[in-house]
Amino acid sequence: GTWTAEKVLEFIRERGIAYVDFRLVDLPGQWQHVTVPAAEVDLDTFRRGVPFDGSSVRGFRGIEESDMVMMPDPAAAFVDPFTAAPTLAIACDVYLPGARDRYERDPRFIAQKAEAYLRETGIADQSWWGPELEFFVFDEVRFGLGPNEAFHLVDSAEAAWNTGRPGGNGYQVRHKQGYFPVAPTDTMTDLRTEMCDELQRAGIRVERHHHEVATAGQAEINFAAGSLVQTADNVMAYKYIVRNVARRHGKTATFMPKPLYGDNGSGMHVHQSLSQNGTNLFWDENGYGHLSQLALHYIGGILYHAPALTAFTNPTTNSYRRLVPGYEAPVNLVFSKGNRSAAVRIPISIASPRSARIEFRTPDATANPYLAFAAMLMAGLDGIMNGIDPVALGYGPIDKNIYKLDGEERARIRSVPASLEESLRHLEEDHEFLLRGGVFTEEFLETWVDLKREEADAVRLRPHPAEFALFFDA
Ligand code: GLU
Ligand code: MG
Ligand code: MG
Repeated sequence: GTWTAEKVLEFIRERGIAYVDFRLVDLPGQWQHVTVPAAEVDLDTFRRGVPFDGSSVRGFRGIEESDMVMMPDPAAAFVDPFTAAPTLAIACDVYLPGARDRYERDPRFIAQKAEAYLRETGIADQSWWGPELEFFVFDEVRFGLGPNEAFHLVDSAEAAWNTGRPGGNGYQVRHKQGYFPVAPTDTMTDLRTEMCDELQRAGIRVERHHHEVATAGQAEINFAAGSLVQTADNVMAYKYIVRNVARRHGKTATFMPKPLYGDNGSGMHVHQSLSQNGTNLFWDENGYGHLSQLALHYIGGILYHAPALTAFTNPTTNSYRRLVPGYEAPVNLVFSKGNRSAAVRIPISIASPRSARIEFRTPDATANPYLAFAAMLMAGLDGIMNGIDPVALGYGPIDKNIYKLDGEERARIRSVPASLEESLRHLEEDHEFLLRGGVFTEEFLETWVDLKREEADAVRLRPHPAEFALFFDA
C-alpha cells in the first residue's frame, strides 16, 4: 500500500528475504520477471532501476527498446508464497535507458496517466474498481499447435462423473447448476480457501469465494474495490496466486473466457464509480437505480464506446465465444437494474450512498487490467464531458426480459462486437476519447491493433477441430 524504498529494505532484512523478484507487465498483460539476490538490492536499486532487454518482451518491439529499465514501486510488494527461497515480489514501472523517461508502451504508465487525467478534469479525484474474476480449475489440459494440431483435451474431477471416468464422487454438478451446492457436490471449497489465504497474505482484502455456474470446476473469488492502478496490480497478483495454488495441487487454472463449449464462460465484470473528497458521485437517492445524472452519463460513455472498448476489455479471439446469448454473459448494449444479459447492470440489492456503482459485465480476465480500466475510465469521462444520455440514445433502461421484447423493440438494441476483428475495426474508427490528456497515444493503439490482429489471424487461418467433425466427409 504505502511502503517506501527504505521500508522495503528494512522488511527484507527483518524477514530474512533472500531474493527480490522484479516484475513488469507486458503488453498482453502478463508478468515478466528477473530475480536478484537480496544482498544486491539497495536504495540505488530504487533510484536507478534494474536493467532488462526490452526487445524480447511481447509487444515491446524494436531494437531501440532493448536495454530498458524496470523501476520498482515499493508500494506494490508482496512475499511470493510459491518460491523455495524467501522472495519478495515487486511490481515495476518501465523506463527508457537512463531511467529518466517513461516507456510509452508500459501498461502501468497508461493506467497512471489515466488516474492523473481524471484529477486534471476536476470531475473527480478518485475512481473505484471492483473486478470479479471467474476461472476454471482443471485436472489436466492437453493441447498443441504444431504438426499434429492436437485436439483440445480438457478434464476435471467434476466432469469425470459425467463421462463415467474414474475419479468422480457421484455428486454430479447438474448442467449449469454449479452455483452453488455445498460439498461433496462442490469439490473445490478447500482449494478456493487456500487461494484466499494466499491472497490475504499478499495484502488483498478478500470478500467471498464460491463455485460458479458452470458444470465443471468453475470458481470466483471477490476482493475489495480500490483505486485504478492498485486494483490492476491486485488483478495481476490474483491471477498469479490462483494459477500457482492450483499448480501446487497438480491442477491447472485458466482465465480463458470460454474453455468449454455449451457451458458458462468466465467473465471479469468490473464494478466502477467516481468519488470526490470521499463522496461517491454516483449516488442519488431519487435517481434511476439510485444513480446520479453523472453516473448515467458515465454509463452513456461506456455503452456508446463499448464496441471500441472491447478491443481492450475482451482482447482475445476466445473472448467472443463467451459473448453469446444463454450463458449470463452480456450481448446487449443496454443498461438495466437486474438484467444479466445487459452490458451494464446496476446492482441495487446493496444500494447505499457509499456503495452506489455500475457493473460493466462485458470484460473478461484475458484483458490487460491496466489498459482495460484506463480505457473504461476514459469512455465514462467522455460520457460525462459530452453529456451522453444513454436513454436518449436508446441504450435503455430495459428491465424486461430482453428475449421477450417484440421484434421492433428488439431490433433497436445494439450488440457487442461478434469477433476480435470487429472490435479492432471499431477501435480504429473510435479512439479520440482515449487520446485525451495523452493517456493513450496513436502509436500505442496501432501497436495494440497489430499485435491483436496477428493473434486473430493465427486463429482465423487455421483449420478448426470442429471443421474436421463437420466437413471432413463433405
Ligand atoms: N459467468 C458469467 C459471465 O460469463 C457471469 C455469471 C455471474 O453473473 O456471475 O459473465
Ligand atoms: Mg460470477
Ligand atoms: Mg457480477
